[in-house]
Amino acid sequence: MTFTITGATLIDGNGGAPLQDAAVHIEAQRIAWVGAATKMPAAAQAAQQVDARGKWLLPGLIDAHIHICYNGEESVFALLAKPRDALVLEAVEICKRTLQQGVTTIRDVGGEKYIEMSLRDAINRGWIQGPRMKLSGRVISMTGGHAHFIAREADGPDEMRKAAREQIKAGADLVKLMATGGSATPGQDIHASQLTVAEIAAVCEVAHMMGRTVAAHCHGTGGIRNCMLGGVDTIEHGTYLDDETADMMVERGAALCLTVGVGNPDLESYPLSPVQQADAERRKPMIEQGVAQIRKTIALARSKGVFLGCGTDAGGNPLAPHRFALAREIELIVANDVPPLEAISIATRNNAKILRWDDEIGTVEAGKYADLLLLNSDPVADIRALRDIAAVYKGGERV
Ligand SMILES: [Zn+2]
Repeated sequence: MTFTITGATLIDGNGGAPLQDAAVHIEAQRIAWVGAATKMPAAAQAAQQVDARGKWLLPGLIDAHIHICYNGEESVFALLAKPRDALVLEAVEICKRTLQQGVTTIRDVGGEKYIEMSLRDAINRGWIQGPRMKLSGRVISMTGGHAHFIAREADGPDEMRKAAREQIKAGADLVKLMATGGSATPGQDIHASQLTVAEIAAVCEVAHMMGRTVAAHCHGTGGIRNCMLGGVDTIEHGTYLDDETADMMVERGAALCLTVGVGNPDLESYPLSPVQQADAERRKPMIEQGVAQIRKTIALARSKGVFLGCGTDAGGNPLAPHRFALAREIELIVANDVPPLEAISIATRNNAKILRWDDEIGTVEAGKYADLLLLNSDPVADIRALRDIAAVYKGGERV
């Protein structure tokens, strides 16, 4: 496909002022040229024109923390009781829906039976529609650790190495650890550390040797500290970040993947099932605390200069459906006093860096894939515009 999108206001993902009356020339899946429409080169002028006047053009969004194999509406135990085929078919639909909602790339940080690997391959072959993917395979937890019912349980450095290598063998791009308790696992203390520094370091050593990153689920401060000492690349959630651990993250160049929506689920915009109502009731005290805490964490992380990404955790619990989850996450980040352009950069350019994919995606720049989101209204004026989609392009193909 060769064409030129003209007339839109461009928000390129780098955080600078939007460029009015922009042109983006697309050739063979990639952005060939981008700039002011008045300065279009001959090739861009000669190509088929897509008139986007009155619209806003952004990089495709990147969800850096998602669970594509789970629907985020039923309990994980109900999902695990289903035949594998049922999970596969629903996941195919979730992939398509996610892409249609403007999310052109995801990082799945906890899959199921390696279904996600088959989804990635099917998408890459053009059999089904869905976002680009970086995948962790199964999460790794201590015996009885957070999400142990879906995890590869492992104890001690040797078992942890083996568990990590199993995921890489299965096709994982990164390794996911559960370093503290989690609220989705009934009865757990989210402050409790669940992996030793030696266990974390063992995983980081083998993952890094094979060119993979390590992501770690952490709520409690002790878990974040252990992960920094062990060499983890991205802290997921990071709820109880403090001064010391923020400094450790900056020193080591680690990223914090915010998941504001996890602690602040959407309980209003759709009717909750009895299972969801029960989960909302169970998590009520944690949610009340979490909303205030995450506000502090975001302010602290920004004041310290911690590198921020974001994800939805969609699929990760029964109150995390794949319903404009990333748009909602960005809305919540903005509600925590982050300017809209910065929030958009977090969900595009920064997430691309977290995925180690920033050479090809994350901003609207020449040479990168033409993964684009065209909006009918201005997201800087009202961030809810992210739900007002005119078109989504992945690799120059309109979705
Ligand atoms: Zn998660």
